[in-house]
Amino acid sequence: MNILVINAGSSSLKYQLMDPATGAVSAKGLCERIGLDGRLTHKVPAKDAKVTRDIPMPTHSEAISAVLEILVDAEYGVISSLDEVDAVGHRVLHGGVKFVESCIINEACKEAIRECIPLGPLHNPANLKGIEACEQVMPGKPQVAVFDTAFHMTMAPKAYRYAIPTEYYENDHLRRYGFHGTSHRFVSKRAAELMGGQTEDLKVIVCHLGNGSSLSAVKGGKCQDTSMGLSPLAGLPMGTRSGDIDTCVAQFIMNKYGMSADECLSMLNKKSGVLALSNGVSSDFRDLEAGAAKGDEACQLALDKFRYETCKYIGSYAAALGGLDCLVFTAGVGENGPETRAEICKNLAFMGVELDPQRNLVRGDEALISTDDSKVKVWVIPTNEELMIAQDTAELCGK
Ligand code: ADP
Repeated sequence: MNILVINAGSSSLKYQLMDPATGAVSAKGLCERIGLDGRLTHKVPAKDAKVTRDIPMPTHSEAISAVLEILVDAEYGVISSLDEVDAVGHRVLHGGVKFVESCIINEACKEAIRECIPLGPLHNPANLKGIEACEQVMPGKPQVAVFDTAFHMTMAPKAYRYAIPTEYYENDHLRRYGFHGTSHRFVSKRAAELMGGQTEDLKVIVCHLGNGSSLSAVKGGKCQDTSMGLSPLAGLPMGTRSGDIDTCVAQFIMNKYGMSADECLSMLNKKSGVLALSNGVSSDFRDLEAGAAKGDEACQLALDKFRYETCKYIGSYAAALGGLDCLVFTAGVGENGPETRAEICKNLAFMGVELDPQRNLVRGDEALISTDDSKVKVWVIPTNEELMIAQDTAELCGK
């Protein structure tokens, strides 16, 4: 079976053609510079083949057409006809309160995604463009929307409400939503399988640590809390995002430097985080680790801050869950950063987290990294959001 997974951004579009049963990816790639000129990079893993083509992409429709053409290309194609694409699954950023799970795309679904644009002003319009481009180029092909926010919709009001006047919640839907939900769902589900399949009451904390980072506290398979909020700016300091700060910091900067709210938010989203703490060295953790190893104190501070805040979140989520059975690391840094994992866990011995230094050397593979005696089991579980999207799509389309 072939599910085409699409992640459409404002000027880019990532795709994978995969089998939801095995997770095998027959082709994947990226359309870039949509609206400017247009470039397609296409990879066929089985042949170790990669091709880049400059193709005009004034809109997302041309980008989708280019993807479909290369999927059936004589040289780089992996299917002989588009009939072999069973369905399309789209990553959609914001599902608001409407979407507690994935859904088949129809007019009502598109309208609901449109209604969520004020909550996801950068991503939802792009996601919709991806959906509409597929409708245009592949009329009648079943499509499914998978939301970044949906997994977190099981949070209780005490976790999702902000302590601000109720009218902003009731009229404007301002609350914690949380993101990376597809990753948190995939990884916490896998953790439950690895912990013996018993999910009832299983207490799991998932640390999705990448360029964007978030944690979730999951009990019995259901999200109880998560670190991102109304937007993906909240929670941990990230590659270029500040994470949680006192709102008065923004007010001070706006007043003193004559910045608009949008300009200030852009600074907090794009020029902050570990990039800022390292005095501009990098948002990439490999560069920060290399800098710190050479004695750069700002790089060390950036790493220390990131690890310290992650550790604090784990402590608070263990308290929120009333205990902890399983701690999971995933995404770029979580899967590939033994030093970061070790530093995060160093102060968690008091609650029964004990890493095995040898096991913790793992990079990119699923592995238990705690000692046999550790009360809390610590796992590295590579995330696979595309597979989760493909599986939801196949299931909802009855494939
Ligand atoms: P996103 O999907 O949010 O863009 P990723 O999950 O791909 O991000 O994570 C990217 C981050 O993972 C990079 O900042 C990089 O520092 C980190 N990373 C990737 N490989 C390694 C590695 N081998 N060691 C340390 N960090 C790594």
